[in-house]
Amino acid sequence: MMDDIKTLRENLDSEIKRNEAILSCLKEGILAMDSSGVVLKLNQKAREMLGLKSAKAEGLPVSLICGQNELADFVKEGLVARDSFEKEIKLDGPNEGFALASRSPMSGSSGEHIGMVVALNDITQLRRLANFRRDFASNVSHELRTPITSIRGFAETLLGGAIEEPSTARHFVEIINKHANRLSSIIEDILTLSSLEQGEAIELMAQPVRNVIAKAIDGLSGKAAEKKIGVHLECAQSIEAPINGPLLESAISNLVDNAINYSDENTAINVSAFVEGDVVLITVRDQGYGMERQHSDRIFERFYRVDKARSRKAGGTGLGLSIVKHVVLAHHGKVTVESEPGKGSVFTITLPASDNR
Ligand code: ADP
Repeated sequence: MMDDIKTLRENLDSEIKRNEAILSCLKEGILAMDSSGVVLKLNQKAREMLGLKSAKAEGLPVSLICGQNELADFVKEGLVARDSFEKEIKLDGPNEGFALASRSPMSGSSGEHIGMVVALNDITQLRRLANFRRDFASNVSHELRTPITSIRGFAETLLGGAIEEPSTARHFVEIINKHANRLSSIIEDILTLSSLEQGEAIELMAQPVRNVIAKAIDGLSGKAAEKKIGVHLECAQSIEAPINGPLLESAISNLVDNAINYSDENTAINVSAFVEGDVVLITVRDQGYGMERQHSDRIFERFYRVDKARSRKAGGTGLGLSIVKHVVLAHHGKVTVESEPGKGSVFTITLPASDNR
């Protein structure tokens, strides 16, 4: 008999361990309680989602471990209603996020109600992505609306008779042309960003960075000259890094373009590249308007601008720095800014000097 009991015990132990293992590898948080709301079991994921770490939860009232939040209400309702129900809830505490919670009543062997199981599906990432898409769509529509409204307005005025007055007509057509260009810049930038965001690895080839930087500066020499801004380059021909020439050129071109846009006439821009340990640093320094710290933390976000009117006047889309950030990330590097209002800004691109990741 002792042997039988021992075997039974061993079987029971291994059954418990197996169940524990199954519960702990589930991606969902599982929380089981009896009909009075006392916690019977919860798995590791539920602990993480509720921010419980290793504190003991079994044997405690569920209200004590949930606190006062949407989950607590969901559980309370379920204990009364004894129903099966699904709802999206917000999780607070240290692991703030969102979960798709579903509750199901538990029945004993003769069908009596013995408690409830709540499964929590972590949908925080999905929710963030959905919010991000929604914000992006609304920002894009907002950005497109302004030039479209202007184009329509001026076209209607022309059709209404202004077309007969050559000097006015020319002026209006110029405005229409400007807004049409703006529309095409916004769309081009959105397409560039979305292709960068596909996350596909870009082709990187070890090559001197000087030529790429010089090309970017060259492309903007006319614009710089119009504002009497000198753009100076300091970079040894020997500096090499694994780069994608056209993409890095577009990133540097964006930075130099901004430096021109957000500086007064008769100032200078210094672009330099140097090696520091195992990285190559490329800096674009201007003597322009600069910005407060609260802005410099956010300017790499899409459509974020310090001064909307100034950006529009310069033909900006609010996407340039997001493109820079994504190009640099695709190079396994980073981009940072240091800026002081009225003094100027320094943007620094840091790239790995060799491809030995
Ligand atoms: P935009 O098309 O408006 O220039 P960006 O994404 O390139 O968009 O830049 C975002 C914002 O960051 C700009 O609108 C501007 O307010 C600010 N900014 C960017 N570069 C500079 C700079 N060199 N000096 C001052 N402000 C800058």
